[in-house]
Amino acid sequence: MRLFDLSGKVAVVTGGNGGIGLGMAKGLAEAGAAVAIAARDAAKAEAAVAEIAKLGGRASFVSFDAGKAESCRALIETVGRQLGRLDILVNNAGISIRKRPEEYSDEEWQSVLDVNLNSAFWCAQAAYSGMCQRGGGKIINIGSMMSLFAAPYSAPYAASKGGILQTTRALAVAWAKDNIQVNAILPGWIDTELTRRARSQVPGLNERVLARTPAGRWGEPEDFAGIAAFLAAPASDFITGAAIVVDGGYSSLA
Ligand code: NDP
Repeated sequence: MRLFDLSGKVAVVTGGNGGIGLGMAKGLAEAGAAVAIAARDAAKAEAAVAEIAKLGGRASFVSFDAGKAESCRALIETVGRQLGRLDILVNNAGISIRKRPEEYSDEEWQSVLDVNLNSAFWCAQAAYSGMCQRGGGKIINIGSMMSLFAAPYSAPYAASKGGILQTTRALAVAWAKDNIQVNAILPGWIDTELTRRARSQVPGLNERVLARTPAGRWGEPEDFAGIAAFLAAPASDFITGAAIVVDGGYSSLA
């Protein structure tokens, strides 16, 4: 169906070699896009590329460090050169450092802001002119429940994810005239390497997540395949500046 067809489109997913990023990459590939997996860990990325190929999709790996502006710009340039165009940018790479606010070093604060927030801006800025030349594009930024709420051990993470929400809105209103739609996905608690670490460090976290999530389960990376494909497809052409929660009801529970 044309509304959901991504045939002929090229997507890049930062941090697409595992977790939520791979879940989205699979959804984009299933809808017909060629997907560039942008990440640091080459072995994980090659496994992700093979997994997508096994499902009948097209994917390739581009080595990239989200913490560096020049690497973000090089990523967009490389994808354009290797795959001929860039229609869909998914800013998903993310890290978390759990500490009390008073304990962060300058470097720790900066690294979370660079990887989670600044990279999304650097990549989007680099992608803008090419998208304009082709008459439009789609940018999907990954926020968090920490775009809306806060917790005592996540100050830079919350700052970065709050920033993702407002960056999404700012780019959406600036670039709507260029037919570029910019939206955010806000995941609830999803079972990935990131949260497995937190689960092992924080006693009772698993039980609290299950009790607080109306769906009664952790999200899975596959829960992000459909929303990514939708926000990348013509079906969402009049949706921009939106933040869509994918959280099993977590943010709706009083
Ligand atoms: P994972 O740890 O599984 O994935 C994080 C990804 O980010 C990895 O693929 C990693 O690639 C990449 N990454 C991290 N740092 C860099 C870097 N400097 N350069 C390039 N890539 C980098 O976590 P999730 O899948 O859970 O997280 C994906 C996104 O979803 C993040 O933005 C996270 O904040 C967000 N999120 C996750 C939630 C959850 O419950 N899991 C909830 C809310 C939001 P590599 O292996 O190469 O380092």
